[in-house]
Amino acid sequence: MEEIKIPFTHKTVSVLFDKNLFDFIAETNHSSICLLVDENVFELHKKLFSPHNPLIIKSGEEYKIQATVDRIIDEMLERGYDRNTVLYAIGGGVTTDIGGYVASVYKRGINFNQVPTSILAMVDAAIGGKNGVNTTLYKNMVGTIYQPDHIIYDFNFLNTLPKVEWINGFAEIIKHGCIWDRDMFKELSENDIDNFLNDEKLIKKIIRKNINIKAEIVCSDEFETGNRMLLNFGHTLGHAIEKEYNLKHGFAISLGMVAAARISEEINNFYSEEKDLILSLLEKYNLPTRLDFNKDAIWNGLLSDKKRNGETMNFVLLDSIGKAVVKPIGLTQLKDLIAQVL
Ligand code: NAD
Repeated sequence: MEEIKIPFTHKTVSVLFDKNLFDFIAETNHSSICLLVDENVFELHKKLFSPHNPLIIKSGEEYKIQATVDRIIDEMLERGYDRNTVLYAIGGGVTTDIGGYVASVYKRGINFNQVPTSILAMVDAAIGGKNGVNTTLYKNMVGTIYQPDHIIYDFNFLNTLPKVEWINGFAEIIKHGCIWDRDMFKELSENDIDNFLNDEKLIKKIIRKNINIKAEIVCSDEFETGNRMLLNFGHTLGHAIEKEYNLKHGFAISLGMVAAARISEEINNFYSEEKDLILSLLEKYNLPTRLDFNKDAIWNGLLSDKKRNGETMNFVLLDSIGKAVVKPIGLTQLKDLIAQVL
């Protein structure tokens, strides 16, 4: 086990890398804990969870809504959890997002630990303190920034993660390569999803690298006025696509990255050869790069994005692989670009 400290503005978060969750619970022996567990994760690891009387949340993005948060809070109140209870959010990004949000508002804030069990949550969602839920119109419109005490990486959970979820998570890993780490992009090009699936050392190494990348970006700009915006590469269009077509987050982001790479080529002198490298890498990891879009629906979805700023939208473009930049694009120009690249 390795402990990594991430010094965020208001709290230093301790990442426990390669730590058995149930050993940790036994060692800390806290008087009151509440395990909030994704239902699929619970079903697959029932024996381990049952003695802890966990609170189960339904799996799926459609449950990442305020009604789920309200139900969890009601149940926590009924169970008598107080301000000293420590919450554990155990699951993929949906659970870590909901768990962080609940912890930040329950009795005006309680301590909590993130326990990411999907690749996507391990490399992205569980790190950085952003949490929240979707509204009817758009994703992640409500939430807070609230840091956990610990982020616990228990790799036993990956044994039950379906392959499609490994692929889903690699979209965010590829994103990190595109915006921040050219060497990692190259390393990904030299491997494929099965290499990572079948090699415990390799997957741990790449997850470890992605913790560093996400932590470095967030620490340099926790409240998203600069670098942190780069993490939205592929997300502006990706979120609109995710909502419209009900795709997995990583799959939608893959399509969003393709569009953003094409827009970068159009207006930011991003080399066409590099754009092709991104498309090939996404395809190599079985991520989608083509879909027949209803451009009007995507455009309407885009207009409610948080990154909209009056008549312009802050858009993450690539200068080159490994180097991204945020540029405002006028809405009229953006609409034309979308018609061109989607
Ligand atoms: P998810 O939580 O829906 O998990 C994906 C699927 O994998 C679910 O069906 C879940 O039940 C299953 N699963 C998870 N761990 C498992 C395991 N060990 N064994 C078997 N099944 C398992 O989604 P996700 O892809 O992990 O995360 C996507 C979410 O993360 C989105 O809502 C996205 O907005 C959010 N996100 C947040 C941030 C952030 O900074 N807060 C960053 C990126 C993404």
